[in-house]
Amino acid sequence: MATFYDTHAHLDYPDYANDLSEVIARAQAAGIAKMISIGTSLRSSERAVRLAEKFPSVFAAVGWHPTEVMKAPDDLRPALREFASHPKVVAIGEIGLDYHHLPGSQGGNAEDDARYKQRQADIFQQQIEVAIEAGLNCIIHQRDAFDDTLAQLKPFAGKVRGVFHCFGEDAGRMRRVLEIGSLVSFTGIVTFKNGQNVRDTVAATALDKFMLETDCPYLAPVPYRGKRCEPAYVKDISEVVARVKGCSLEDLSAATCNTAAEYFRKL
Ligand SMILES: [Zn+2]
Repeated sequence: MATFYDTHAHLDYPDYANDLSEVIARAQAAGIAKMISIGTSLRSSERAVRLAEKFPSVFAAVGWHPTEVMKAPDDLRPALREFASHPKVVAIGEIGLDYHHLPGSQGGNAEDDARYKQRQADIFQQQIEVAIEAGLNCIIHQRDAFDDTLAQLKPFAGKVRGVFHCFGEDAGRMRRVLEIGSLVSFTGIVTFKNGQNVRDTVAATALDKFMLETDCPYLAPVPYRGKRCEPAYVKDISEVVARVKGCSLEDLSAATCNTAAEYFRKL
């Protein structure tokens, strides 16, 4: 059976509070040998680390999500540095910029928008710094903020890389990510009926420049669309990606697992 990794899962979310052991067992049975549980705040990062300590196949990323920055401490770095040295913490993430729901669209004004964006940029910057110090790569979340996110990461190309997770942009943008030494990863959106734009980007991305993920509990692939997602469904994602790439599951397994092992050194 071809082996795959789920490089982006929110296993600490309450969605799995009652059956996480079964969820992880199903992943193993489906050939999903390793999973990275992603931090979205210090508390969530702490939970991800605890899960990594409990389950051999689970690893952790630690970071503060851009949509949560108004709740972040002014200096996130000391706490993040402590997590980063843990043997099962493989990356800083998820971090980045998200302009999808700006305060201006919810009764705020232009000044509120500017303050929110500045705060996101500050928190993103702090986390890039910690990643460089710790020798870890980043897991990047961006929504409606592609240019700003790339621009903020670009000066550090050569020191740190980012994987632009849940990649839904076109091939031109994919190439701009690869140009700075970063990578992309694809979710169950590749299986959606209306996911042709993402399948086109997959087709254009070299086999050794992307990874696979679920972003569970979100984005369950076909045939589970609309239900709770879980790491086992990387199998369904891999089947569609292999078809789009015109390669065997074994080739896709070797390429994506090698890329992940090289990118997340402690994985
Ligand atoms: Zn996520």
